[in-house]
Amino acid sequence: MDYTLFWCLTFVFYCWHILGVTVGLHRLLSHRAFKCHKLVEYFFVFGAYLAYEGAPIWWATIHRTHHRYVDTPLDPHSPRQGIAHAFFFYRDFKYPAHMSPEKQCPDLMKDPIYVWLEQGKDWKLGYAKCVAINLLFRSILFYCFGWECMLASFLGGFLAWNVPLILNIVCHIPSLGYKNFHIKDDSVNNHLFAFLAMGDGWHNNHHAFPGSSQMGVKKHEFDMSWFVLKCLQKVGLVYYINESISNKAEDLAIAQADVTKGVSPDDESREAASRAHSAARARVKRRKLAGSAAASSSSKMEV
Ligand SMILES: [Zn+2]
Ligand SMILES: [Zn+2]
Repeated sequence: MDYTLFWCLTFVFYCWHILGVTVGLHRLLSHRAFKCHKLVEYFFVFGAYLAYEGAPIWWATIHRTHHRYVDTPLDPHSPRQGIAHAFFFYRDFKYPAHMSPEKQCPDLMKDPIYVWLEQGKDWKLGYAKCVAINLLFRSILFYCFGWECMLASFLGGFLAWNVPLILNIVCHIPSLGYKNFHIKDDSVNNHLFAFLAMGDGWHNNHHAFPGSSQMGVKKHEFDMSWFVLKCLQKVGLVYYINESISNKAEDLAIAQADVTKGVSPDDESREAASRAHSAARARVKRRKLAGSAAASSSSKMEV
């Protein structure tokens, strides 16, 4: 067995699968945080689907519910209800009363491929479909490229499947990270999961600005998924990126004060937080302009 080839392939598959989750399922389908060509969308979304993530509509419905009811008893995977509950949240295999794909993801219900993959009221059937398609994909890899490639794909997919599940636990335990924004949930930023999940571990930043494609705020908070999106934008494959989150410390201080005033886990207040942040940025700009005008007039006086 060529171990170098095996580990290189595992790394490549892991990158595709985890970006499928962070860029495809999370930032695009769940949050509509950027716009791109449909083929780019499918490239990422199917990267996630082939990492055993289940139907895209199912994933987005759960995630939008998570943001709406974050860290309350209606949150599908809050560790406040216990670690096992958070990890195995789908064990009931049915949508509870407060979760509905038709109501929470009407935009995704327009895509016939996503509807075909959707797991309906019984998650078991849809997940069986997901497993079958995953097995078929790896059988094709085995037939075309041999078992090293097939095994690397299996391992890369398995790792990428587990990272978001564990991230949703770790990044909602306050003692395991830090906050930039003191919003009313347990979300924290965690360096390890920011690395493993290519930026999604800046989870407190994300909960403060869920509509933003960029999740890193401070200089050390590198966001690989956002970097990938910027590269795709440069070559024209992505044509709009929401970057409402700020990467300036000055903006952060003001936005933090504004966001702390009004955020609670519902859509309206998320929009309010976003509006507050835009207003904060405008104020920063005005102050800078006023500062530079004052500096130029004082320098004229000195002259
Ligand atoms: Zn969360
Ligand atoms: Zn999210």
